Amino acid sequence: MSATAEPTNFIRRQIDADLAAGRHAAVVTRFPPEPNGYLHIGHAKSMALNFGIARDYGGRCTLRFDDTNPAKEDAAFIAAIEEDIRWLGYQWHAVAFASDYFEQLYAFAVELIEKGLAYIDSQSGDAIRDGRGTLTAPGVDSPYRDRPAAENLALFAGMKNGEYADGEMVLRAKIDMASPNLNLRDPVLYRIRRHRHPRTGDAWRIYPLYDFAHGQSDAIEGVTHSLCTLEFEDHRPLYDWFLDHLSTPSRPRQIEFSRLNLNYTVMSKRILSQLVDGGAVNGWDDPRMPTIRGLRRRGFTPAALRNFISSVGITRKHNHIEMGQLENCAREDLEPAAPRAFAVLEPLKLIIDNYPAGETEFIDAPNHPADAGMGMRRVTLSRTLYIERDDYMDEPPAKFFRLAPGREVRLRYAFVVKCVEVVRDADGRAVELHCEYDPDTRHGRMPGGDGGDGGDGGGAGDGAGDCAGDGGDGAAAGRKRKIGIIHWVNAADAVRAEVRLYDRLFSRPDPLAGGDGGGDFRQHLNPNSLVVRENARLEASLAAPLPDARYQFERLGYFHPDIDSAPDQLVFNRIVTLRDSWAKIDRQRAAR
Ligand code: ATP
Ligand code: MG
Repeated sequence: MSATAEPTNFIRRQIDADLAAGRHAAVVTRFPPEPNGYLHIGHAKSMALNFGIARDYGGRCTLRFDDTNPAKEDAAFIAAIEEDIRWLGYQWHAVAFASDYFEQLYAFAVELIEKGLAYIDSQSGDAIRDGRGTLTAPGVDSPYRDRPAAENLALFAGMKNGEYADGEMVLRAKIDMASPNLNLRDPVLYRIRRHRHPRTGDAWRIYPLYDFAHGQSDAIEGVTHSLCTLEFEDHRPLYDWFLDHLSTPSRPRQIEFSRLNLNYTVMSKRILSQLVDGGAVNGWDDPRMPTIRGLRRRGFTPAALRNFISSVGITRKHNHIEMGQLENCAREDLEPAAPRAFAVLEPLKLIIDNYPAGETEFIDAPNHPADAGMGMRRVTLSRTLYIERDDYMDEPPAKFFRLAPGREVRLRYAFVVKCVEVVRDADGRAVELHCEYDPDTRHGRMPGGDGGDGGDGGGAGDGAGDCAGDGGDGAAAGRKRKIGIIHWVNAADAVRAEVRLYDRLFSRPDPLAGGDGGGDFRQHLNPNSLVVRENARLEASLAAPLPDARYQFERLGYFHPDIDSAPDQLVFNRIVTLRDSWAKIDRQRAAR
């Protein structure tokens, strides 16, 4: 991959120190997804860290699937996760599965039993939970806590052999029921689950809990730096306790960092899957989803996502990153690279009355206004065009510099037209604008004079509001009114397309505030997160876009063909608008 080394951070400094002290021959990390859903942009932070460190330190990073819960996992997720990682540009040294270590983990559990450090608890799940106590009250010892090791070993073997029913008993570590850290109050290590496992089939009737499997899997793999998110900080004493009492082949060092949270969305597979199952979005790859698949489908490039993650940095501070920051990374990535094109999302017919019927002219338009190296494309112009409905108003305010009855506007790369007549439908809505063009205004020349300078050059590219490309105000010609520049397409050869415009998935910056998804968060879904323009018209050069293409549709944003596209029905996704219209909303909120 082409990514440059990541900026340093407290984890890299720790690794530097460990290497300088000769603690490790090589750095070994792992990226450990649970295959119970698709990866999201939060996972990209963990990937950037783990794969990035292995790459930059010449070490190894294993892709390890933490597949200890057979009920929730699905082989299809495994292939999807691998594909997403590759697409993002990261490379693993090897693929492993926690289930590869079931035999070894079982042996570790037996070791603890033999040392008198684990016991079989025959209490019900509820009783075990009640016995754990609370943050303020210590737990109570299980009546089975002092079972002799020989009895524990026999029961554990019976559990393994399927002699007992789910929930009949569990294996617990024997640590400290009065510990202020609840994770140390005799945590459950193994439970009976008579469930077929996607990889080990029916070989196992018992499965280790995450807390028992995770750290030991790291140790088995020789992971030097086990990097995880802050919610595992309180689990570290437990993981260290295991390492202290088990004959593991190595002793990984756990370092925690803060999770990535993005505002206006949610970052949890569990909640994302509720959105999918509840039909709030159209699948895991819905372009509004913060999943890697969703962002990919929308049109974000791997580089934009990597740059975003790198811009977020690695710290231990809790944070909510602005969605605008992710979008800005897309803009920075696309601005220099995306060829420009004309697209009209809501077409309004414009007929140039004084343009010869049946005639077509060819205009060479630059693919990028600031990069001649990107070459030119040929657009056609004839008597009937489409312009954006928004670029016309019946009764415009003073500062509207586009079309209105009697007003002029410049058609980008062509000439100035003046609206001389408006045809309306029965409801009085404009359906056809009749215009006259001024042949002397080609090449940026202003109407009625010598003035005007390359009106086509600037503005329109980025302009989004009323000032849309007010190229040249014609001062030399003594005119008062500014003339805006608008984009257009030739009706004769424009391609029909559906264009999907996306907005924030939620209308609140923190949709989970006030309870971790008690169902409530659905209330805060943004009803306008998807707006479809079914009748858009694109310049003819866009008739057969490559699936990987990304364009700037002038004045509208950056766009990418959706996978729903068919040869006779193009579909484009808007990746981002040209400017962050939410920055202001966010600032206002922050000020409140
Ligand atoms: P989720 O709640 O979305 O399922 P998870 O942490 O359970 O998240 P895993 O599949 O276990 O998901 O995650 C794999 C790795 O990615 C873990 O090391 C985890 O810490 C990390 N990770 C997950 N979400 C984030 C996030 N938002 N920011 C940074 N790292 C994350
Ligand atoms: Mg999880």
